[in-house]
Amino acid sequence: MEPSSVAVGCERVTHEYGTGSTVSRTVTALRDVSFEVATGEVVGLVGPSGSGKSTALHIIGGLLEPNNGTVDVLGTDLTALSGAKRTRLRRDHIGFVFQQFHLLPALSARDNVALPLIERGVSRRERQRRAAELLEQVGLDDRMDHLPSELSGGEQQRVAIARALVADPEVVLADEPTGELDTGTGARVLELLVDVADERTVLIATHDERAMAVTDRVLRLLDGEMRQAGQFSDEQ
Ligand code: ADP
Ligand code: MG
Repeated sequence: MEPSSVAVGCERVTHEYGTGSTVSRTVTALRDVSFEVATGEVVGLVGPSGSGKSTALHIIGGLLEPNNGTVDVLGTDLTALSGAKRTRLRRDHIGFVFQQFHLLPALSARDNVALPLIERGVSRRERQRRAAELLEQVGLDDRMDHLPSELSGGEQQRVAIARALVADPEVVLADEPTGELDTGTGARVLELLVDVADERTVLIATHDERAMAVTDRVLRLLDGEMRQAGQFSDEQ
């Protein structure tokens, strides 16, 4: 593939926890994992608990440096970047959605969504405008001034999705985005995430097999190893 058509590429990525610490026991969370995600593709990273999904997303998001291998995000080799440059790439190009929403409890839905724009130097007026626009896209324009505690779990996750997208990232990483939600709500939140993400590249880590309903392709991790590296699968 041409470089521009690959949004995320991992090549022979290995990560062990516990190396360099005083604890002698190490855990190999990822072993020789290689895959590519094309620009605009929606990929599910599926596997049981402990299979290495979060580790993979943290590495792609530049939150964790792998012990081995290379990680390419939007044409940049993350493993060759300084910590500061990695942070900037993350801030400017990646949106995160977490299992536990991670909303600030004292801020309204709108101010939570606007938050990523502060460190990017966007004016308050423009922040508020953009946050309102995103909240409208996730169907919460009538909940702008609500605090997280005044929202249902599904609504809180929709606020978190709006926040992940407000700075217009090319890549969206979602780690168990339905983990705290009931079945029906989770399914709707997944659909919404993919819908609002539009043309962006999306990686959804989940142990929920139903993620396949909304993804273009599924990558399977088992005990830190990729079962079908980089191939199209025709899951039922
Ligand atoms: P998943 O997200 O698929 O549940 P993780 O990436 O969180 O999997 O974990 C993969 C493996 O790495 C598991 O065996 C887990 O116990 C281990 N692990 C995860 N984080 C740490 C850590 N900070 N320290 C030590 N081991 C960890
Ligand atoms: Mg996890």
